[in-house]
Amino acid sequence: MQIEYGTQTDQGKSRTSNEDSYAASVRKKFFLVADGMGGHAAGEIASQIAASTMEDLMTGADAGSGSAEQALLDAAQGANARVFESQTEDPQLSGMGSTLTALALRDSRYFIAHVGDSRAYLHRDGALEQLTRDHSLVWHLYESGMLRKEELSSHPQKNLITRSVGPHPHIEVDLERGDAREGDVFLLCSDGLTDVVSDETIRTVLGDATQSPQQMCDKLVNLANDAGGPDNITAVVVRIAPGSDDEGRTVRIELT
Ligand code: MG
Repeated sequence: MQIEYGTQTDQGKSRTSNEDSYAASVRKKFFLVADGMGGHAAGEIASQIAASTMEDLMTGADAGSGSAEQALLDAAQGANARVFESQTEDPQLSGMGSTLTALALRDSRYFIAHVGDSRAYLHRDGALEQLTRDHSLVWHLYESGMLRKEELSSHPQKNLITRSVGPHPHIEVDLERGDAREGDVFLLCSDGLTDVVSDETIRTVLGDATQSPQQMCDKLVNLANDAGGPDNITAVVVRIAPGSDDEGRTVRIELT
């Protein structure tokens, strides 16, 4: 399986710092987006600890698909424990937390671990599917039929997250899995993208096969900033390269 990927993160237009973090490991075929929260730079620290700890703890892609789910769960639990410990050690960091949305590719399978309101999407055959459910009050209202999806981002309690990494010693992690096919494009992103860029626009950007994953990331971040950039914006795009018999190779396509 050959993988192409790109990454982009941006402070946006109204925040004074960037509390989003991401990770991308070629060797581990592992990708992650984390969106931190907490005062006094604590959000920044929370997402950095969550991202780097989870990447460190993930096993390599050579471990195969059999152990991928447990590896993701263990790594997410380890990242949660590290963020939790950090705030018990330093009162200034008290209450900090982070989202965590991670993708691992193993033996033509994909595995996603997810906590919070960052998202994973899959673009396949012209259609866009959201693979994760937001752990937020507004998502609960949406699933209960009380809000439409386009109303979520403007709801006054939009930022009320029902699950995050850090505040508690243990965390419940959602796991998604499926077959990965040639031409699939995965997007991991923070809410700074999805609050201002519609699913339909994301579908169009990810569906343009003439663009590299890096160009897609840059385009999505620019679109969010053009729409006001009210929050930090992070996008990680991973494409299963078509027409490849180059087993095991992972390349990063740079913007030209
Ligand atoms: Mg955010």
